[in-house]
Amino acid sequence: MERSGSPFPEPLEAAARHAAAWLDGLDRQPVGARADAATLRARLDVPLTAHGVPARQVVDELARDVAGGLLATGSGRFFGWVIGGALPASLAADWLTSAWDQNAHNFGTGPAAAIVEETVGKWLREIFGLPGHASFALVTGCQMAHTTCLSAARHGVLARRDWDVEKRGLCGAPPVRVVSSDLAHGTIDRALRLLGLGTEHWTRIAAGADGRLAPRDLAAALATSPGSPTIVVLQAGDVNTGAFDDFAELIPLAHERGAWVHVDGAFGLWAAASPAQRHLLAGAAAADSWATDGHKWLNVPYDCGYAFVADPAAHAGAMAYRATYISYAADARDQADWNPEWSRRARGFATYAALRQLGRDGVRALVERCCEHARALVAGIGALPGAEVVAAGRINQGLVRFLDGRPGATAEDHDRRTDAVIAAINAAGEAFFSGTTWRGRRAMRVSVCNWQTDAKDVARTIASVAAVLR
Ligand SMILES: *Cc1c(COP(=O)(O)O)cnc(C)c1O
Repeated sequence: MERSGSPFPEPLEAAARHAAAWLDGLDRQPVGARADAATLRARLDVPLTAHGVPARQVVDELARDVAGGLLATGSGRFFGWVIGGALPASLAADWLTSAWDQNAHNFGTGPAAAIVEETVGKWLREIFGLPGHASFALVTGCQMAHTTCLSAARHGVLARRDWDVEKRGLCGAPPVRVVSSDLAHGTIDRALRLLGLGTEHWTRIAAGADGRLAPRDLAAALATSPGSPTIVVLQAGDVNTGAFDDFAELIPLAHERGAWVHVDGAFGLWAAASPAQRHLLAGAAAADSWATDGHKWLNVPYDCGYAFVADPAAHAGAMAYRATYISYAADARDQADWNPEWSRRARGFATYAALRQLGRDGVRALVERCCEHARALVAGIGALPGAEVVAAGRINQGLVRFLDGRPGATAEDHDRRTDAVIAAINAAGEAFFSGTTWRGRRAMRVSVCNWQTDAKDVARTIASVAAVLR
């Protein structure tokens, strides 16, 4: 190919070859990482040269030196944590995002990026069944989606008490109380810390046996200081069991008490795409804010999350800023009004591409396929000798554990056995799972988020676990 003298084609073509080799090899290589920290450090922690290295060489050596240190998260047999793969169109659009290198601060700094985000926000609201007037932000993940939504919540609940929190801060403000079940994700904890709300005013109510916050318990908690500004955090999809709070009961109850309701739907909000699963979200559209991810179930490359707020004034009140050196659009959406970042990646392109590749029906099929495969994995592994189902789970999550077969084995022995079997499965390399402590006992989490996972992957995984157990 004729080179124009541009410095770009050579490293980019090298990167494309390395990427294709990695993606093509996913089915044949171990799903877990093989290289330990010392090995990776010995290869990668080289002295920084004074004069640099040619771009092509940098790319080739990087691809060579990370070998064995990458988890095959794009594999259809990767079931660890809650991690999706990358749809082809989305991955390609993500490459273009880097090539175009737009600063998606606002319309002026990247017009096409702004319009794409505008469009994506609309599409996502439709998929999730959220109010058409809800404002939104494309952020790095659900962590920042919580932080964004809860900053709007903080604004909203304090504005109702005539307290301008953006101006006056939290010193001297009426204490903001937060109420959730004790299953709330760690990202809520961090968002509360970052926003200065702290964790001391956070009431964590023990969830019921079904993993849901009982309406009676929420009502009792809210009755304890009826006048205080309150944020209720509910969950659509618990990381262990996939449990959904009962939105239809809980949200009206919280609203009666003047509370702001935020929903953590990192992966569970996607249940809205499936007529078979949608009932789990009944009533959720009445919440005040919702957080979810693109990099989990939609299979957009990292990193990508979405925040939605029912009251755009509260959202903009927390976020918007006008700088004199920047011009603002009269006829387009400026992302800076809604996003916590200033300069930022034009991450809308990857989501746009994922949604365009799948279409509405493709999103539905992706969600339903993952749910079906998760059920098959939990049942199939749970039925093996020496295994049992801990939680059949909801949507795409579930829990199993492994039993120590020795007579008189204790609960601690089963815990040790469970961790040892997880490690052995991952070492065998056919599949990858992560562990958890659920109700005080160790378990293996089954989480299916990958667009590529198929029935063959499920069968191959169950066979590998069976071999480990023998
Ligand atoms: C993954 C997850 C989060 C955090 O999302 P990030 O995208 O990793 O920031 C929050 N809540 C739940 C339920 C999750 O599964």
